[in-house]
Amino acid sequence: MGVSNPDRLSTGQTMQFIKSFDFSYGRNDRVSARVERVIANNPGPFTFTGTGTYIVGAGGAVAVIDPGPADEAHLSALLAAIGDRTVSHILVTHTHSDHAPLSKALAAACGGVPIYAAQPPMRDGLEAVRLDEHDDEDFQPDVIISGGEVIEGDGWTIEVMATPGHASNHLAFVLREENGLFSGDHIMGWSTTIVAPPDGDMSDYMASLEAVMARGFDVIWPTHGAPITDVEPFLKGYHAHRTGREAQVLERLEAGDTTIAQMVPVLYAVVSQTLWPAASLSVLSHLIKLARDGRVTTDDEYSLSGHWHLIS
Ligand SMILES: [Zn+2]
Repeated sequence: MGVSNPDRLSTGQTMQFIKSFDFSYGRNDRVSARVERVIANNPGPFTFTGTGTYIVGAGGAVAVIDPGPADEAHLSALLAAIGDRTVSHILVTHTHSDHAPLSKALAAACGGVPIYAAQPPMRDGLEAVRLDEHDDEDFQPDVIISGGEVIEGDGWTIEVMATPGHASNHLAFVLREENGLFSGDHIMGWSTTIVAPPDGDMSDYMASLEAVMARGFDVIWPTHGAPITDVEPFLKGYHAHRTGREAQVLERLEAGDTTIAQMVPVLYAVVSQTLWPAASLSVLSHLIKLARDGRVTTDDEYSLSGHWHLIS
């Protein structure tokens, strides 16, 4: 069963999200001097209008970022957009099923292009809720990258930035020539991103968000939705949304709640109960962060069923 992102629905009104933009499935749109984008027809509660695959180039060989879902029409559209250009690199932000699976077919269709991505996550963890954005278990990169690497292309330079949080192996890619960031699902213009334990981690997420804020990018190109051009105010709002949710969790503990089951109906009163399983994971991610910060304690290992208390 697919579930949507409850944090978007419950508190999204306080942020200036970018909900409308001009696009058409399969069309190659130029979004900057060195960046083109083709959107796959896989809309959904996590993917918004679908996966935006970026083609990065300056007239010579290009890189492709996040080829997307295993979808024949999207592969054809990408090959048409690439035309007679050479693809020198395929870069993948993380291994979720709306980002990674088409990499292999695209690499083969373009003559054996190396795929660059982080080490896939350990796959023996329990998934408490099956989210419709899940891990592509067959994905295997040719070149493992982890952050800090600089990839030189034909007239473009990409710096790899580790941005764990949404996924433990999430990377973002800095296009140095344009002071822009391909943010994957770490930062999206249309919505907050889901941080679902065990692979998602709110402590990592907040640290990664602050690392991006400190860089002063001029533009952010998320995998889903429109580019973010008013970067600084947007990121301040994005950060405030998370600290606001954390404060709400602390308020519930102060009010005497000890379980996630008690907190969710209050914190997510305005959202449909069908979204409460995902909301529970989001609250758990905040509680784990607060425990690590020394603000709360639990009588159990970090789990959805534990009892949580403030440390006074
Ligand atoms: Zn995604």
